[in-house]
Amino acid sequence: MSGTLYLCATPIGNLDDMTFRAVKILRGVDLIAAEDTRHTRKLLTHFDIHTPLIRYDEFSKVQQGEKILQELLSGKNIACVSDAGLPAISDPGADLVKLAINSGVKICPIPGANAALSALICSGLSTEKFSFIGFLPNSKKNRREVLEKFSDREESLIFYEAPHRLKKTLSELKEFFGDRNIVLARELTKIHEEFLRGKISEVEKNLSEPKGEFVIVVEGNKSDGEKKPVEENFLDVYKNLIAAGIDKKSAIRQTANNFNLNRREVYKAVVEFEEKNF
Ligand code: SAM
Repeated sequence: MSGTLYLCATPIGNLDDMTFRAVKILRGVDLIAAEDTRHTRKLLTHFDIHTPLIRYDEFSKVQQGEKILQELLSGKNIACVSDAGLPAISDPGADLVKLAINSGVKICPIPGANAALSALICSGLSTEKFSFIGFLPNSKKNRREVLEKFSDREESLIFYEAPHRLKKTLSELKEFFGDRNIVLARELTKIHEEFLRGKISEVEKNLSEPKGEFVIVVEGNKSDGEKKPVEENFLDVYKNLIAAGIDKKSAIRQTANNFNLNRREVYKAVVEFEEKNF
């Protein structure tokens, strides 16, 4: 009879967000698989938990995953924790879950704090439909592909970002999504918790030195419902962008964003214009 793999949430800042059940489970299991054992040791000490720890992180997950699986198959109960929040959400854990499921091991969630959903519920943006994107890829090409893919989506979009990349990411969001409403949720559940709301350009202005941890919630694309009046011919803007050396695809995207239009509409108008002026 194999043991159970518990996916155990830990606080994202405020230790009072540790649940009674999480403490009970972490005390009761045979082993805790932790992303950073030193970090988790401090949490365990705070809650008077003395269960042995084993490392399980991005770098060791292949080797350690097998080891943990063997322990589970031998009947041991194991809890997986990350440095903060829910394991397997932009954190290690997902591969361990797959490994365990493939071997018929029982999986059990121990819910609790999570940065993405905490930011979303306080954002004031639509919570009806949303997509969690997490961290954008590192490579410029892959980042642009993801941003392009989500630029037409109508649901709220949730991103994680490191403080040193925040300004760059906000500027990319503005380029691909237009000057939409966003909410920057900073240092959730901590002393300096703060929400910056407004158009991307306004939030950029109000953001001094980006310190701490951030979630960015972006309003979905509203271009179909609430079109801005087209007070100048958007084709002129498109032509100016082309004249400035911007490639056709980017010029169409920027024009659509500036006028809150659908990119297909702009593309159609450009094709018609080109046919007429050939
Ligand atoms: N597993 C975690 C969860 O369930 O939320 C996410 C871990 S991910 C490696 C870390 C990122 O989550 C940070 O870079 C930041 O974007 C976000 N984050 C974590 N804690 C946060 C907090 N207290 N306030 C704002 N964002 C936070």
